[in-house]
Amino acid sequence: MITYTCDGCGKVLHRHALRYTVKIEVKAAYDKMEITLLDLIRDHREEMRELVEKMKDRDPAELEEGVYKHIRLDLCPACQRVYIREPLRFHPEQTAPPPPVDIDRFLRSLGKGGPSNEPREDGE
Ligand SMILES: [Zn+2]
Repeated sequence: MITYTCDGCGKVLHRHALRYTVKIEVKAAYDKMEITLLDLIRDHREEMRELVEKMKDRDPAELEEGVYKHIRLDLCPACQRVYIREPLRFHPEQTAPPPPVDIDRFLRSLGKGGPSNEPREDGE
């Protein structure tokens, strides 16, 4: 049985249970660069050698994360409600009031999300 774990609170989210995914891309952003003819004809070898020298003893994963990092989170409905209120200060222990509309029931009424009473692997 496929299960997910809420990355906020650690709750096990069983297959077909309502869960949310958060996809975050953190990437280096630069203003548009203007490349001139001088840039194209200039010899960059020494500059590149210095750059390679600076990076050669660094952790490759750390270097990569300095440019790009993709983060994917699975959240239970309670953590989703907390997350969307303050994504930069997400603390799953904060409680969020239940939504005025039961989105799980609504989605299931549309035929999305599969059966709601699927037996759980742990027998509950
Ligand atoms: Zn959670």
